[in-house]
Order: sequence, then C-alpha cells, then structure tokens
Amino acid sequence: MFSRILIANRGEIACRVMRTARRMGIETVAVYSDADANALHTKSADNAVRIGPAAAAESYLAIDRIIDAAKSSGAEAVHPGYGFLSENAAFAEAVAAAGLTFIGPAPDAIRAMGRKDAAKRLMADAGVPVVPGYHGDSQDAALLAAEADAIGYPVLIKARAGGGGKGMRRVDAPADFAAALASAQREAQASFGDRHCLVEKCIELPRHIEIQVFGDNHGGVVHLFERDCSLQRRHQKVIEEAPAPDMPADIRAAMGAAAVRAARAIGYSNAGTVEFIADVADGLRADRFYFMEMNTRLQVEHPVTEFITGVDLVEWQLRVAAGEPLPKSQEELEIDGWAMEARVYAEDPAKGFLPATGHLTHLALPNTDDDLRIELGVQAGEDVSPFYDPMIAKIVAHGPDRETARIRLGEALADCELAGVTTNLTFLSRLVNYEEFKRGQVDTGLIDRGLAELTRAGAVPPDVLGVAALAVLGLIEPGSGDDPWDGLRGWRMWAAAQHHALLEHNGERYDVALAAYGHAGFKVRIGATWADIQLAEGRAGPRLAFSVDGQSKSAGVVKDDRAVTVFLDGETYSFVLPDRLADADEANAGGDWIISPLPGLVRQVAAEAGVAVTVGQQLVLIEAMKMEHGLTAPRDGTVAEVLVAKGEQVEDGTVLVKLQRENESAA
Ligand code: ADP
Ligand code: ADP
Ligand code: MG
Repeated sequence: MFSRILIANRGEIACRVMRTARRMGIETVAVYSDADANALHTKSADNAVRIGPAAAAESYLAIDRIIDAAKSSGAEAVHPGYGFLSENAAFAEAVAAAGLTFIGPAPDAIRAMGRKDAAKRLMADAGVPVVPGYHGDSQDAALLAAEADAIGYPVLIKARAGGGGKGMRRVDAPADFAAALASAQREAQASFGDRHCLVEKCIELPRHIEIQVFGDNHGGVVHLFERDCSLQRRHQKVIEEAPAPDMPADIRAAMGAAAVRAARAIGYSNAGTVEFIADVADGLRADRFYFMEMNTRLQVEHPVTEFITGVDLVEWQLRVAAGEPLPKSQEELEIDGWAMEARVYAEDPAKGFLPATGHLTHLALPNTDDDLRIELGVQAGEDVSPFYDPMIAKIVAHGPDRETARIRLGEALADCELAGVTTNLTFLSRLVNYEEFKRGQVDTGLIDRGLAELTRAGAVPPDVLGVAALAVLGLIEPGSGDDPWDGLRGWRMWAAAQHHALLEHNGERYDVALAAYGHAGFKVRIGATWADIQLAEGRAGPRLAFSVDGQSKSAGVVKDDRAVTVFLDGETYSFVLPDRLADADEANAGGDWIISPLPGLVRQVAAEAGVAVTVGQQLVLIEAMKMEHGLTAPRDGTVAEVLVAKGEQVEDGTVLVKLQRENESAA
C-alpha cells in the first residue's frame, strides 16, 4: 500500500478521500490555489502545496504544477477526485510518466469513454443498448438535421465532450434544429474546447439509473448495484438514492450485467459509473434502458452506494491502484436497506438555480451517526468563491427502507444551518417532502414540474418574524450554542415593554411588534396578523424552543451586523436589517422620540415634561389587538414633551413622547 498520496482536488471530495487515507494509515498531501489557502481541504491534509492562483486553469487544472507538487512532496500516488482532471487521459499519463500511480483507470479506458460519440459506438459494438441517434463524425448541419428527422422528434443535441449537464439542447421541431445546433456547438466550444455534437432521441419520460462498477488489474469486474439520479435541475443531479425505487430484480440484473460488459469491453480498472437512461413511459422495462455515458472516476453520489453495500469505495480505489484484487466478489455483494443523498449547493433555486457566492458567516450541522453522513467542503468564515463548483456539502442518510431514509434525510436537512450565502436548503427540504418523490415516482422531469411549489416564496409566518425580531432587538443571544433560555436577555426588564423591529425579506418589509406577557410568552403582530408564542424552558440543543398555537418548534437563529437568518421547519429565512439607524435618523432626530408602532388606544401615560426617566422605564401603555404594549424610554434622559393623553386613539407611527436632545439636557 502507498504511504503517501496527493489529492488533486478540493472541497468535500478532497476531504472525503483524506478521511479514508488517514484511516488506512496513508499520509495525505493537499494542493491548493490562492483562493483556498485556508480552505478545509488545505487544513485537513498532512501536507499542503500551493499550486497557483484561484483560476482553475492555473491551479487545479494545471497538470504540470500538480505533478511537480506530487514529486516534491514525495507522494507515490495521485487521487484525482471528480471534476477537474479526473477524466483527463493526458493527466493520467503524466502521472504515470512521473513514476507515480494514478488512482483511477488506465489512460486508454478514460479516452475510450471520454467522448460520448465514440463511447456509444464502442458500447453498441459490445452489445450494450444505446440511445438511438447519430454518433458519427460529420458536423454538417444539413446532414445532422436529416439524421434528426430519421431519429424522430424530439431529439437531444449533446456535446460529445460534455459534462455537468452542459452543451445540451432539446429540439422539438425541425424548424428549430439549425439554431439549437449552432448554439450547442458554441457552448460546447466555450466549455470543453470541442464543438462536436451528437444527436440522439430525446426520451420524454426518462429515469436516470446508473450502475457503480469496479474493476481491478487482474481481470476482475463487479458492479455494486444501481443509483437512481433522476432528480435533476439543468441536467444535473440534486438528490440521488440507492437502490432505485421499484426496481425489479430482473432489470437490476440486466443493467448490472450490461454495465459489467461495458467495463470489460475497455479493460476497466478502478471505480467507474455506467449511466443509463430508462424510458419509463410504460414503466421500467428490460428492453427500454440505454447506455448514456460512462464516468471513469469516483462519482459525487458514491456515498449512497457505500451505505447500501458497506463498502468504502475510496478504500477499494486505493487497494486496486496498489495492485490488490477486488476485496469482494459479485456474490459477496448485497444491498442493505436504502440510502439517499442531497447535494447542498450555494445557489438560488428561485432564480433559475443561479450559483451564489458570499461569505459563509455561520455553519451548524446535525450530528452524524451510522445512518447519517455529511460530506463537507467548507467551514464557517470562508468565502464561497465564483471560481469553483457551487456544491458545498452532501447530506446522506441511510435506513432499513426508503421511507425511513427519506424521513432521516428530511430531518437532517431541517437541522442544517448555513448563513451568509444563499443555498438550496429550503428547496431540498421541500423536495424531500414532495408528494411524487415521497411515493418514489421519480423521473428527470419531476423538479421542473414541481418548480413553482418547490421555489415558492410565500408570506413569512409570524413565528419566524417573532423569532427574528427577538434576535434583532437583542433579546436573545442567538447561535451562541448555549441554553437559549439563559440567553433571554433582561427578560424581566422587557417583559413590561412593547418592542418593534423592522425586517426585510425578499424585498418585502415587515414591521414586527412584540409584546411580552405572562411567563416567557409574547405576542407578535405584523399588520393584521398575529401569533402567540410561548418560549419553552430547557434546552433544544443550540436552538430556540417555543410553541406557537400549541405546536412545539425549535428554530435556529443567527445574527450578524447585516442580517438575521432563521431556520425553521426546513426553511431558511434571511432578513436584511434595513438600515435601522438611517431610518431612525430620518423619522426621529437621533432616537429621541417614542413612536407608536401600531394603531391603538392610549391606556396610560407615565411621562411628564421636564421629568427625568431611565432606560427601559415604561412611558406610555397602548392597547391594541386585545394586548397591551408598553413603550419605554430608549435611554436615560429628560422628557421634553408629551404629545398624547390617556384615552386617545393613535396611529401607527404617531410620536407619543419626545426626550430632550442629549446636548439640550446638559444645558
Ligand atoms: P456526477 O455524475 O458525478 O454527478 P457531474 O457530471 O455532475 O457528475 O459532475 C461531477 C462534478 O464534476 C461536478 O462538480 C461538475 O461541476 C464537475 N464537472 C463535470 N464535468 C466537468 C468538466 N468537463 N469540467 C470541469 N468540471 C466538470
Ligand atoms: P453529462 O455528461 O452532462 O452528465 P449525460 O449524457 O450524462 O451528460 O446526460 C445528463 C442528463 O441529461 C441525464 O441524466 C438525463 O437527465 C438527461 N438526458 C441525457 N440524455 C437524454 C436523452 N436522450 N433523453 C432525455 N434526457 C436525456
Ligand atoms: Mg452524466
């Protein structure tokens, strides 16, 4: 076995490879770009070597620099992870030429599968079913259009060098073909430096089902069953599971055999994935699945396979690369239970899944155990930069059956807190609880069909606003990790008072009034909506426990100078604090006025011109919505003017009392 390996990657996959290496007593060398000098993977390794500036072309894609780092650090082997150089045959060759071992397949195998057109021809020859289409060499637009007519619309134009869902166009009618081809070719040229496209039948109701295969250098090839990756956005996977829902045993066997045949056809060694597309218009059928492509590397979603087989695929990669035979035979591999993975991306699902960047101010995750795994590539305080893939974590759950795994995944997602960067966490929680997904009725169109519901931005519930307001007003110490009950700062003091906070969510402003009553209860009012919240005593871990309308809940609350983020019931709500000082300055020359936050009846006036008051002292009591709201002095000072009297009806925003300006009172 190797004693030191270099990991030519970053993020969660670099960390994940290091974990297994460490367990096996293998030293690890990380490479990092300038953007990643303090990144998790850089810190997690035994050694780390800087390879260049942030741009991937000058760092994680720079073959020479990575080879130099491997040589200078004394690594014996290089693990490429996924993405970047993982499917680059020239890189695998360069590693070998440097006298090092590439932890992956041979360069020829990578090359054979590197282009989708050639791979399809090869597979068809090996007796593996492929999607009907044109996989030839010509790029003549008229010829391709004629091929499309022969295939029958709709067709899919695909970049032969494509990956990550890029360079694909669905075409529904001949009239649109020429323009779609030109645009796919342009995108292919820009993304992969190869404009060459193929045309194939577009399957209208498809499921993406792939087989994990593994080969060794002694002619052994096994498969480790299937993964269903049908939940996709922009042709990219979002949630993956293993096994595939409603998979008949004979189709599993047929797909597994086809994948092994594919791997054998190219003398495959190490981990690989054979992706199939199944036409499920009439259900899953043994004669309706087709080879789509082979990924000659470890796949992002490999943990679901590890959960159901008990195999550490990275350990197998290392063993096979070191010349050992496959640790298990086909007969020794079995499926245990069910596993699901959700990919947490820094992106905005409501804006077409636009990648997001920013400063990750807060990160808290549920505890992992034998049935919950979290693969993380970031840490709090880090920037999510625009240079690399926006995937920041994977949450993977396992259980004895699909429903148990699904519920576990949903709970884990609801317990994840990421603030400072827009993420797809809310979207993922909704997706896990989406009816079609619950029933296991998956196909690649599911997300698009449910998009409106999955990305809906409804009104913010009053309990969320109440919790956010508590944090804004500094009445709880959020995110401290301590007992939030203890964090109820000066509860007694504010109990008599009425507070209000201005919050902004998705461009919408909320004026939130809070009034305390009883023992740790408070009422929240936003316009005509209100809720009764009872804060719970005792702990809910780092979360704030409360009940609203008799329902127990716990919320994560995180505050920094600019925003408050509330995590509740699987949804993330981010509130910008409107520039409160500026607002106050405008309305109120320096915090000297006591303003009614809501329309109501003045029940009591305890202020008198010329009389000294202390901060927190109740000056006016207003009754509204059957609640009393005490308004208090914002600071120590002297009352300059009382503008209301008992029994008067006042409006939202009415100035009730003015204090003397600080400099006036000194005079
Ligand atoms: P998987 O089937 O494992 O999900 P994807 O096609 O989604 O594979 O790609 C895996 C990772 O590799 C993603 O992070 C993706 O952004 C990245 N990736 C895929 N293809 C390329 C490519 N050609 N160049 C750079 N990165 C790529
Ligand atoms: P990439 O290299 O980008 O992963 P794939 O060929 O694996 O490209 O296709 C990515 C996704 O696009 C598939 O998972 C599937 O959802 C969709 N897709 C690919 N081929 C077809 C097809 N012929 N008909 C319908 N959808 C397809
Ligand atoms: Mg693919």
